[in-house]
Parts: sequence; structure tokens; C-alpha cells
Amino acid sequence: MHTDLPSYLNADDLGPWGNYLAQVDRVAPHMGELNKWLETLKRPKRILVVDVPVHLDNGTVAHYEGYRVQHNLSRGPGKGGVRFHPDVTLSEVMALSAWMSVKNAAVNLPFGGAKGGIRLDPKQHSVGELERITRRYTSELSGFIGPNKDIPAPDVNTDARIMAWMMDTYSMNQGGTVTGVVTGKPVELGGSCGRQEATGRGVFISTRETCKRLGLELKGLRVAVQGFGNVGGTAAQLLADAGARIVAVQDHGGAVYSASGLDLALLQAQHRAHGSIADTPNTEPLGRDAFWQVPCDVLIPAALEGQITADNAAQITARVVVEGANGPTTTQADDILQAQGVTIVPDVLANAGGVIVSYFEWVQDFSSFFWTEAEINARLEHIMLGALDAIWRLAQDKRVSLRTATFIIACQRILTARDMRGLYP
Ligand code: NAD
Repeated sequence: MHTDLPSYLNADDLGPWGNYLAQVDRVAPHMGELNKWLETLKRPKRILVVDVPVHLDNGTVAHYEGYRVQHNLSRGPGKGGVRFHPDVTLSEVMALSAWMSVKNAAVNLPFGGAKGGIRLDPKQHSVGELERITRRYTSELSGFIGPNKDIPAPDVNTDARIMAWMMDTYSMNQGGTVTGVVTGKPVELGGSCGRQEATGRGVFISTRETCKRLGLELKGLRVAVQGFGNVGGTAAQLLADAGARIVAVQDHGGAVYSASGLDLALLQAQHRAHGSIADTPNTEPLGRDAFWQVPCDVLIPAALEGQITADNAAQITARVVVEGANGPTTTQADDILQAQGVTIVPDVLANAGGVIVSYFEWVQDFSSFFWTEAEINARLEHIMLGALDAIWRLAQDKRVSLRTATFIIACQRILTARDMRGLYP
């Protein structure tokens, strides 16, 4: 179907980028006159691949592949996280950068889309090695990023400490402190209150509002969560606080189940002590595949992409899937779930809470005037509710999925900006 792919792509194995292209194809019939710009969405604006050499503690030098992709900058500077993971590939970073373009436009933030990553397993490195890797990667990117160009943030296996190193390295290279170059920093360094919980909070708001619309009570709602990190852990806690029962949790180490609801404090303690929630006391162990068959009302994939596939989609019992992770559902699985009548709140809406509060952080850094956590949470809720309402209404009007409705709104905004700016030169 994609006959004019850029030459750096392998048409036989497009990976997550293929999933994204299929989503763009579904939105094309709704773009009208803007269709003439559609190809813009199918090609990242810029791709930077860097070698990241580092002195290891054992005296040897290792080399890692680093990426930063700016998918689209029509609506503002690039914005998107940095991932440290052994499976990071160019296709993955490209797809994640494109989903950032869509997400930022869907909730109407003045940003384009970008994403970065380093292909490595951070668990194999000491803190000192991670710091040197982060600093070298940031230095390699320093001409590419900046508060008006492209603003990285945390993603899988990166956190506030890594953002502090990135901010410091960029600032050293610039000769002055530039807090606004990254978001998700520690609050003491120009970070925003509420940023760490923001993505999980947005997932919680999306779940609550979707359930309200479908007539599902939060109290006693059975929820299964894949991923117990920043996003999954926070969403699970907020849902439990609101009366839901978290019946199953899976992380990289294994999965646990309790029909009457898991004790999240025990899961947190297990994770702190052993690095995984597997084998938490007072829980039943679950096999990798059995996790997808758990009886539940809501399923929240909040780990990695490509988790809900044609192999497990038909076994899912949930009425609602809220995508905390980016790209967790393949196109085939998406069709199977739709046919089963499952309501899918797509990643580009459900997990937008993180970038919304990153936007607040960026604004606060520019003005050096900081808001309270209550202000942040209220503004986050306001934007999430407005976006969800517009997308829900469009999906009903056009009889399309929430994903396609989100893509319609977002791609119209991106391509309108493209059209108004005109083509340079
Ligand atoms: P994290 O590193 O804090 O947590 C990741 C979780 O996924 C961990 O619990 C890990 O054990 C689990 N996991 C990893 N591999 C797994 C596997 N094969 N099977 C089951 N579980 C596995 O990362 P995070 O920040 O919570 O990000 C999770 C997802 O949310 C990613 O897709 C990320 O792109 C997306 N996201 C994150 C943010 C953010 O602000 N952090 C914002 C938007 C989207």
C-alpha cells in the first residue's frame, strides 16, 4: 500500500511505524481539501541518529545507538519523551514521535511531535554510567533541541533525575541555565508540581469519564493494569482511591491476580524490594497469557507498544480499554476489539495528561512563575475533559471509533497549520 516509503525504511518490516501509517490511512477519507498535505504525516521532518560512546566502570568503552526524531513542527516546537530500552529502534521512535504530533494536536497544545531513545538496558548500568550516557546523548543532541526547538521529557526508564542531567548538560553547553529545555524535571529545578503523576491522572480522568458515559459505576469496577510504573502505578492508585477494584497487574517480571482487589501498598512494597510486583504476598500468580483473559470491566495497557495483538484480543473480557501506553494495540487487534463492542480510549487522548502538564512546566519555566498542584490538576482536568467531550461527540456524529475521531481532530489541526504556513521556499 505504501509504495513511496522513504528509502531508509524496510517495507517488509515497518514495526510500530506501520501501525501508525495504518491509522493515518483511516483518517485520510475525512481530511477533505487538506488531503493534499497528508504525505506530511507519513514522513518525519527530521531524524537524528547518534553514536553514544561511554566509559564503563570496568574501564572499557561501550557504544550505544541514540535517536531523536522530530516528526512534525508545524504547530510549534517538538515535544516528546526519551526512552531507554534495549528494544528501541528507529521505527519505534518514529512512530512514537508521530503519535506525539497527533496527541499534542488532539488536546490543542502549541507543540509539534518528537521522541527520542537510546537502545540499551538501563538495568545493566550503574548510576554513574547512566549519567555519562545521558550527558553524552544530550550533548550530541544539543544543536537539535532547545526550549523553542524541541523539548524532551521522561518516558520508559527515564525520570526526573535523568531530566536534571539533561538540563544541566544542555545548560553547560549553552553557558547559562536553561530550565525550559526539558520537562519532567525535579520541582527544585524548575519542574512542575503534579508532573510525575500527570499521565496516570489523565488515564484516570479518561477512565472515569468514559465509564460515566457508558453507565459503568467506578465503585467496584474491575480493572486490570499492564505496567506498574509511572503511568500504570499512578492510574491504578487513583482508580483504587475512587473505589475501583484492581484485580490484576502485570509488569516485566510477572503478573498477579486477586478477584477481591489487590492491595496496591503490598505491590509497591514488593516492587521496591524486588524490582517487580511478581510473587507479591496474598496474590495469585498469573501466566503471561492468562493476564489477558482475566474477567474485568476495564483494561489499562500501560507498559509498551504492540501488547494487544490478534493473538490475545479476542480473549479480552473488558468493555473498555484505556491506552495508558503508546501504541499498545495493533491495528488487527483494534479491529477485533471494535467488533467485540469494546470502547477503546486511544493513547493519543488517554495518556495526554503527561504532555499537558509538561506544557504547563514549559510555560512556568518561561515566566519563572510557578503554580500550585491544585491549579495544575484543575487545568489538566479542564483540558482533558474538553478534549474528551469534543472527540466523543465527533465519534458519535461520524460513527467512527474514538481513535479515528481523535486522529481527525488532530490531523485537521496539523494539516491546517501546514496549509496556512505554506511551503518554504
Ligand atoms: P515506566 O518505566 O515507569 O514503567 C513501565 C512499566 O512497564 C514497568 O512496570 C515495567 O515493569 C512494565 N513492563 C515493561 N516491559 C513489560 C512487559 N514486556 N510486559 C509487561 N510489563 C512490562 O514507564 P512509564 O513512564 O509508566 O511508561 C509506560 C507507557 O506509558 C509507555 O508506553 C510510555 O510511552 C507511555 N507514556 C508515558 C508517559 C509518562 O509521562 N511517563 C506519558 C505518555 C505515555
